[in-house]
Amino acid sequence: MDETTTSEQLTALFQKDADSPYLIAGPCSAETEEQLIHTARQLQNSGIRLFRSGVWKPRTRPGTFEGNGTSAFAWLKRVKKETGLPVAIEIANPIHIGHALNHDIDVLWIGARTTVNPFMVQDIADALKGIDIPVLVKNPVNPDLDLWIGGIERIQKAGVTQIAAVHRGFSSYAKTKFRNPPYWEIPVELRRRMPDIPLICDHSHICGNRESLLSVAQYALDLNYDGIMTEVHHDPDNAWSDAQQQITPESYKQMISSLRLRKEYSDDEKFVETLDMLRHKIDEIDQELIDLLARRMDISERIGDVKRKNNIAILQVARWNEIIRNALAHGSEIGLSEEFIMKYLSAIHQESIDRQSQE
Ligand code: PEP
Ligand code: MN
Repeated sequence: MDETTTSEQLTALFQKDADSPYLIAGPCSAETEEQLIHTARQLQNSGIRLFRSGVWKPRTRPGTFEGNGTSAFAWLKRVKKETGLPVAIEIANPIHIGHALNHDIDVLWIGARTTVNPFMVQDIADALKGIDIPVLVKNPVNPDLDLWIGGIERIQKAGVTQIAAVHRGFSSYAKTKFRNPPYWEIPVELRRRMPDIPLICDHSHICGNRESLLSVAQYALDLNYDGIMTEVHHDPDNAWSDAQQQITPESYKQMISSLRLRKEYSDDEKFVETLDMLRHKIDEIDQELIDLLARRMDISERIGDVKRKNNIAILQVARWNEIIRNALAHGSEIGLSEEFIMKYLSAIHQESIDRQSQE
């Protein structure tokens, strides 16, 4: 570790403090020495605790900028020396790790296209045995929570003690307003299953644009995330990768200052009383919903019997369309979103089909 990175900085690693989330920022890629130094200097007093920058870039198509490789290490050394900020890079194999360790990189991150492959994550874990460098594990590109958890476990088993999960969204075939839709239920479930692993939101790769960065970061803080990772470039329009989603250090500082950090809990009597009362109501409604769902499934089974006796197919598209139409119309009258109604109906419909197909 370089003498400019103090051990205090590392003990506080990946944890939010009373008035700030754990902030990581820096360009998508280390393009040139000037770009890196310029961006880092402008970020120096923004409250960030880790400077990020890709040295090897996993690009979708060949022939695009794939990173400067080892020549970027000297620039990162300068960043550390001149700003005192610890630095993080993406590593995807043991060779990358060897270079990173030889060049005083403080934190490693495993990218989404690597977490997806257990062979690669295991090779990384094996190379990290006995080296307790902090590691960030991004979610795999596909929405597979177990694969994400498996990646974290492999790194834990190598003896790495400082690990955080980075939520960067998931690939989707459907066109959405996000570059990688967040599917918040996946990191929420990760939190439930691994409550001690700090959770960081990489809103840049979720959004793929500049406009929704603030709202996605705020959403993450509302869900009690520990940190935010943002791509920041001194001249984002001319960035060599991910230009559309990078922002200037100035916009970054502005965005961070508008974020509201939520407290985990409050002892305020009135608050506790109101919350308990509302939670009690929710518990009652959940019970009723579950009873109603059981009643609905009983009827589905009876329909299944009738169809079977008359040799009728289970799926009837016209009827399914009618259910959707009615539910969407009713939902929109009472303020339930189309997306929510469709998710709810799809789950119910699938379960009904499964019940009906049981002999
Ligand atoms: C990155 O952080 O620049 C990157 C390549 O991210 P991801 O692995 O999330 O695509
Ligand atoms: Mn990027």
